[in-house]
Amino acid sequence: MSRNAVAKVRENSARPMRLTVLGATGSVGKSTLDLVSHSPGRFEIVALTAQSNARELAALARLHNAKLAVIGDEKCLPDLREALAGTSILSAAGADALVEAALMPADCVLAAIVGAAGLRPTFAAASRGGRVALANKECLVSAGHVFTAEVARSGAELLPVDSEHSAAFQALAGANPDTIEKIVLTASGGPFRTWQREALESVTPEQALKHPNWSMGSKITIDSATLMNKGLELIEAFHLFPVGVDALDCIVHPQSVVHCLVSYVDGSVLAQLGAPDMRTPIAVALAWPERMVAPTAKLDLAKLGSLTFEAPDEERFPALRVAREALHRGDTAPAVLNAANEIAVGAFLGGKLKFLDIANLVEHTLEIAERQGAIAPASSLDDVLAVDDCARQLAEEALQRYV
Ligand code: NDP
Repeated sequence: MSRNAVAKVRENSARPMRLTVLGATGSVGKSTLDLVSHSPGRFEIVALTAQSNARELAALARLHNAKLAVIGDEKCLPDLREALAGTSILSAAGADALVEAALMPADCVLAAIVGAAGLRPTFAAASRGGRVALANKECLVSAGHVFTAEVARSGAELLPVDSEHSAAFQALAGANPDTIEKIVLTASGGPFRTWQREALESVTPEQALKHPNWSMGSKITIDSATLMNKGLELIEAFHLFPVGVDALDCIVHPQSVVHCLVSYVDGSVLAQLGAPDMRTPIAVALAWPERMVAPTAKLDLAKLGSLTFEAPDEERFPALRVAREALHRGDTAPAVLNAANEIAVGAFLGGKLKFLDIANLVEHTLEIAERQGAIAPASSLDDVLAVDDCARQLAEEALQRYV
């Protein structure tokens, strides 16, 4: 980092960081606002958003004295207004209002809306040219090339929030791409790591929602149980870091203490370690290139005793293979993968699809999409959204075979 850039960071850190949180009522959103509560005077909250949880959004907006609170579902606006009565906090509702919230002047937008619903607001945040702390993985998975092009065009500063990518970002530390041999993301293996395939036939949503290490929203928790999450993360890493597909790998590490390992040509392997708590990678994304205090459990390696690693089993967890193949296929295959997976996870949570059929439905949808010519290069967000829409319809139709 140049002396000028360091001086600018120091100058900026003298005043509060103006922060917008998209998806404020979610797991990542609330962890972010918890960090804000622990750092009085460091942040000024501009806008907070949610989809339907008006009461909680209003409570967070009051607590953090936000300027604006936006609810995605317009039917929830009266509730939001009622809960904000007596304050000067502005309120709005609807998809366009989410985009407007993302466009408000702010130093950093933390993008933590779940799913493809986060694409438009996160693109809007990137178009401003400020810092985007990116949790919404769908922007990179479904629209990687288009999103990174928008970031390059606007000069936005993109910082990953996903713990493995934050770890890679830290272990890479601006390394010369020619010196990087491999980036290895770790996976906890989820709650069924040791289960036999036959036992996986009858997994219930309640069982799948019990992640051994991380506390997260329901969609990503199911993705962790199928290992689809690791597949999505490989696609994210491909767009974030200057390496080819073959330099990306993953390894199962049940303790979730090592988040990523970067191997260099000289045989060095740099890893980032930390307790499994999203407040650490969020703090990295908010404070970089400095560090801020995060009230997380401190790592006690002596107490842990040992850290273990094993190869992922793609026979029992085929979602990882399906995602890797979509990454290799390229074009809009990852967008189809993501959309079909959202439908499949929703159907599983709704009791309409078996656990093992999540990956089957996604793979099946990819095959149909390929046959119908829906997998093709995308040159704009609208192209990606059209493919997302088409893939959802194909997945819904294919779902009928499984019910
Ligand atoms: P949650 O389900 O906990 O929260 C999602 C947030 O998005 C909520 O604020 C929700 O509002 C809002 N939301 C839901 N649907 C819509 C919609 N259609 N339009 C606008 N807003 C919507 O998700 P997580 O916090 O777990 O995850 C957020 C993102 O971060 C995901 O992309 C996930 O993959 C990624 N991520 C999460 C990690 C984690 O530890 N949780 C780790 C790494 C990445 P409401 O409460 O009103 O429904």
